[in-house]
Amino acid sequence: MSDDRTATIALLGCGGFIGSHLLERILDATDYRVEGIDLSSRKIAAFLGRKRLTFHTMNVHDVAAMRPVIERCGTVISLAALCNPYLYTHTPIDVIESNFVKIYPLVQACSESGCRLIHFSTSEVYGRTLTGAIDGADPRHVPVSHLLDETATPLLLGPIAAQRWCYASAKQLLERAVFAYGFERGLEYTIVRPFNFIGPRMDFIPGIDGEGVPRVLACFMDALLHDTSIRLVDGGTNRRCFTAIRDAVDAVMLILERRHASRQRIFNIGNPANETTIAALASRMIDLYRELRPEAAGRNFSVEPVTSREFYGEGYEDSDRRVPAVGAIAGALGWTPKIGLVDALRSAMEGFIREYGMKCRKVTGAFRDIVRETV
Ligand code: NAD
Ligand code: UDP
Repeated sequence: MSDDRTATIALLGCGGFIGSHLLERILDATDYRVEGIDLSSRKIAAFLGRKRLTFHTMNVHDVAAMRPVIERCGTVISLAALCNPYLYTHTPIDVIESNFVKIYPLVQACSESGCRLIHFSTSEVYGRTLTGAIDGADPRHVPVSHLLDETATPLLLGPIAAQRWCYASAKQLLERAVFAYGFERGLEYTIVRPFNFIGPRMDFIPGIDGEGVPRVLACFMDALLHDTSIRLVDGGTNRRCFTAIRDAVDAVMLILERRHASRQRIFNIGNPANETTIAALASRMIDLYRELRPEAAGRNFSVEPVTSREFYGEGYEDSDRRVPAVGAIAGALGWTPKIGLVDALRSAMEGFIREYGMKCRKVTGAFRDIVRETV
């Protein structure tokens, strides 16, 4: 492979949440050239003038257009996907196509052109825990450890009519394809399973810069900024381990640099110490919002229960609990997450206030000052 090719990365989905943070870090902290591809550059406008970035407004499903890009790059980091739970029960065909059918040719192209592939899968491939899947399970059959392990834990998805799982199924099948290309054709790959990364530039606020229902952090920020009710799906009893985007980017940079140690590996990236129920997340975010916006200190924020059927429609099931085992990546690359839940939330929420504070309806003078201070 030429030196030029080795020094060039194709970043597919560079305009999204994770992509924008990775792009920033690669440009700031390495000498790589980046060929960035996305349908939109709105979130990365600040980086478009950077010398080592060539941005293409392009659909990654256009295989003919993508081939020459892949042939110019030594590494493909593949992030482009539809990955929002609301879509899983509303446009499942698009979700399956985006996460398997139309991205599969890129795996073939990487294999044929000898390109290294760092592929973003999801923690959702683990599905539900055994305890969550079988109500009142016989404790003898419940796994001793609740940690989700890359090589040992079975992937437990729900029935076909529960369309929620179309995303996890498509992601799982693509992982199997990547693995198979490694096994049969020597594709050099690393598969990443993210556990609920959070940070600035995540998703959108409905009615301001997007339509539909974003992921939970943006849903709760939407409610806080607009002074409407936070909605807790099915009582907010399900749990997630929220992971600071800065920790996550550290992990991906190690994967990028430590090629040999990452070869043909699957890594969870998540923070097991940051586990919370969604109900507890709501109350932490209310407390933090009061701290970040002192004029809201006396405000009564409302939290309203909603059924998953009302919120997401027919066919929604939830992952009850997702706690990553992180021994694999700690052992191979020395990465462990450092940022606790409150700091991760504070940084993400400050980002939302900076971005949307002035655009939301109920902006008062005092709030405007805070927004100015945090810019
Ligand atoms: P995101 O929606 O913010 O970013 C995805 C980007 O891909 C968007 O900018 C979108 O415009 C782009 N894109 C989608 N389809 C495209 C296409 N056909 N052509 C070109 N660009 C296209 O999502 P994210 O949170 O940054 O997630 C990135 C990846 O990580 C996804 O593959 C997702 O499944 C995976 N993931 C993320 C998380 C998380 O915590 N954020 C969790 C699990 C998995
Ligand atoms: N959720 C909620 N209220 C909302 C949005 C989401 O209670 O306004 C819940 C959702 O049902 C799930 C959790 O928050 O249990 C995380 O949802 P998210 O959309 O962030 O993605 P997931 O982790 O399920 O992929």
